[in-house]
Amino acid sequence: MNEKNVIYLDNAATTRMRRETVLAMEPYFSEYYGNPSSSYEFGMISEQVMDYGRKVFADILNCSPEEIYYTSGGTESDNWALNGAAFGRAHRGNHIITTKIEHPAVKNTCEHLKQFGFEITWLDVDRNGIVRLDELERAIKEDTILISVMTANNEIGTIQPIEKIGRIAQTHGILFHTDAVQAFCHIPVDVQKSGIDLLSVSSHKFGGPKGMGFLYIRRGCDIIPFMNGGHQEKSMRAGTGNVPGVAGMTKAAEYAWENLDNMMRYETMLRNYMTRRILTEIPFTRLNGHETRRLPGNINISFDYVDGGTLLGMLDMKGICVSTGSACSAKNSAPSAVLKAIGLSDDMAHSSVRMTLSASNTREEIDFVLEVLKAAVQELRQKSSGFQEKMGRKRK
Ligand code: PLP
Repeated sequence: MNEKNVIYLDNAATTRMRRETVLAMEPYFSEYYGNPSSSYEFGMISEQVMDYGRKVFADILNCSPEEIYYTSGGTESDNWALNGAAFGRAHRGNHIITTKIEHPAVKNTCEHLKQFGFEITWLDVDRNGIVRLDELERAIKEDTILISVMTANNEIGTIQPIEKIGRIAQTHGILFHTDAVQAFCHIPVDVQKSGIDLLSVSSHKFGGPKGMGFLYIRRGCDIIPFMNGGHQEKSMRAGTGNVPGVAGMTKAAEYAWENLDNMMRYETMLRNYMTRRILTEIPFTRLNGHETRRLPGNINISFDYVDGGTLLGMLDMKGICVSTGSACSAKNSAPSAVLKAIGLSDDMAHSSVRMTLSASNTREEIDFVLEVLKAAVQELRQKSSGFQEKMGRKRK
């Protein structure tokens, strides 16, 4: 199987790198391979790549380049933000507020922090997956040191009211971290407007290389270093910089940022087209997540009386890549915590499939997927005793 005969609808798991992005990385492997920390000119070429990237990311987020710290991706950025802020502010308090729909990188870091005496409040979300602001306000205590709410969810695409959350955090003098891994370079994010103190980004979610990302840290934030060693990243995250990784992530961000409006418009159009056709042409289906306040390319549907994993396998046989939950839990048979949090039963959660589109998908591809999907769902329902029983009762 190669890229040519695959219809890729799993862009929340990872994205394709454009040829231009790969080419932008190439010189820094074998031509300009100097260490960015070296003092001679050859090393400075690498340092310039790192610095230029910081400027590009700062422009996109509306912050200063000195506030961008390179990491190995979203998981590291989340770990650093939470552990760094918790231990950096432990003298002020031990209470952290987050949500029940965070990615495992946030969720499991919070679980880990519990072992060190931190108290975690897990906020519920409404049936669309949106945090209730009054509940957030009520959860705040004297000793609350950090609020962590993702910008957009990786499974159901729901976009949180981060401007309002940031305002609440600021009013109470609490740090606000947001996992923007699914949002950065997919929708506009402004750290000033949204009062964000810490923001996690992963390069492979917007056309950059894997194993690369950054953490935005607002100047003056009392967060402790992530990695001890040399003086790289202002002694906050030691380790020789990944120069090709930065070059690729920068190129991908520039392309995405330049084309953001068009990409958002196109993906939204394709998403709405596909969603509408599924909901009208396949009975007993439901859209999970908010109808409009969702990432442009995200579709998450429950197909009653169908096992999502089996459906995924049938689509896979036709070269169609979709997902039943987040990539990290794709092989985990427990129902998705996100779908449970929005009120789905175990059965409905297991019958859900996520399709995440990109601007490279065409309407012809979507039409083909729809035909395969309709036939597969019908076949699975014919074999489902529950479905046959339901239809029998309806006929009587
Ligand atoms: N946060 C969110 C919301 C994600 O979707 C992901 C990846 O799926 C991560 C964090 C982890 O990012 P990475 O794969 O770069 O470690």
